[in-house]
Amino acid sequence: LSRSVEKAWKMVSKDGKLTPENIKEPLKEIRRALLEADVSLPVVRRFVKKVEEKAVGQEVIVGVTPDMAFIKTVNDELVELMGSKGAKDLEQGFPQVILMAGLQGVGKTTACGKLALLLTKQKKKVLMVATDVYRPAAIDQLQKLGKDINVPVFDMGTSASPVEIARAGIAEAKRQKVDAVIVDTAGRLQIDDDMMKELKDTKAAIKPTDTLLVVDAMTGQEAANLVKAFNEQADISGAILTKMDGDSRGGAALSVREVSGKPIKFVGVGEKMDSLEPFYPERMASRILGQGDVLSLYEKAEQAIKAEDAEANMKRLLANKFDFNDFLTQYKTMSNMGGAQIMKLMPGMSKISEKQLYQMGKELKTYESMINVMQDEERASPEILAKSAARRRRIAQASGRTEAEVSNLMAKFTAVRAQVSKMSQMMKLGSPGGAQN
Ligand code: GDP
Ligand code: MG
Repeated sequence: LSRSVEKAWKMVSKDGKLTPENIKEPLKEIRRALLEADVSLPVVRRFVKKVEEKAVGQEVIVGVTPDMAFIKTVNDELVELMGSKGAKDLEQGFPQVILMAGLQGVGKTTACGKLALLLTKQKKKVLMVATDVYRPAAIDQLQKLGKDINVPVFDMGTSASPVEIARAGIAEAKRQKVDAVIVDTAGRLQIDDDMMKELKDTKAAIKPTDTLLVVDAMTGQEAANLVKAFNEQADISGAILTKMDGDSRGGAALSVREVSGKPIKFVGVGEKMDSLEPFYPERMASRILGQGDVLSLYEKAEQAIKAEDAEANMKRLLANKFDFNDFLTQYKTMSNMGGAQIMKLMPGMSKISEKQLYQMGKELKTYESMINVMQDEERASPEILAKSAARRRRIAQASGRTEAEVSNLMAKFTAVRAQVSKMSQMMKLGSPGGAQN
């Protein structure tokens, strides 16, 4: 066993870093996957460059190929980019004022209703305001949604301007002492100056706590330009990504974050009013990376993450002073099935048989019974035991083992400790006695 551990470590140190060469192929795959997921080309370029710079020089952990290590880096970077910056909740306010923006047909009016229902469930008193004066049907649509979810809708028909309606709506909301006002707006088929001016004017008039850009997840490549325009002109506070129940591959999510730096606050997953979910960056990363050939590598990389945990455990172990407690932990890790799975991931370690594991499990029980009856000082410094036959006899009697078995444990301990010490030197983790934490 110890010889194969040694071999594993040697094999890994040879291929231990990500280099421009060994990430060339997986980088191409990632590029392809991102484009297939409809991430905008400039966003793909910038992301790939960034992740390449970040990856090169990174260490490849035990048991993992450079491809897998690289995919993991990409995944972490995606999650980080889409999720870890900025709060995802709505901004607070008295009242909260949420202004919806976006092109026509993306799901703004539907999102108003969904958000209203969500806030109602949080015991908030909500008012919706209809400012889409260009299509009378749009006002009816919001009124109908309001009835369905039992939330009042303020409108002035098509007789006033959107800005006037919005302002009057806020005044009404304050009079009624509502907690949250949701303002629906008119979109256009494309970005145009009228729409932007209207949005800016409305924003200036009502000073919303949130300006949410509603983006259809199927927008694809265009998403980046769209987000850029809205963010520059109307300084959005976040986005709602709608129609994620369709077969969109999520690329718009990355574009939104990369271009604006603003969070995706919600995701729409259906036409019904309760189809609004929080945004989970991890899920979106798997959706984006779950394209074509990357998928299998991605799955392997997930296993690699588990192996990384094992390595971290091992490092912690190696950094500590190695005593009988560590010995027991080490032995437990190696002999339980979880440990065995991880060991099998390491190169050169696949040869541990079930029989050997069973044998180790049996030994573990014997060792454990003896270590359990040791005094704390004996567990911490096995030298005392080596010096005292009386102590060894006491342990044998208390654990129901023979003195020979105690000697056997001592020999095993000495061997394992020597091995650990050697491994830690090979891994350049400092001296085996040097505690790090
Ligand atoms: P608006 O023009 O931006 O106000 O868009 P609407 O709210 O009127 O929605 C346009 C269409 O998209 C309607 O048929 C909605 O039912 C549909 N829709 C909105 N959100 C979603 C969603 O998350 N999933 C699906 N499948 N359809 C949606
Ligand atoms: Mg609408």
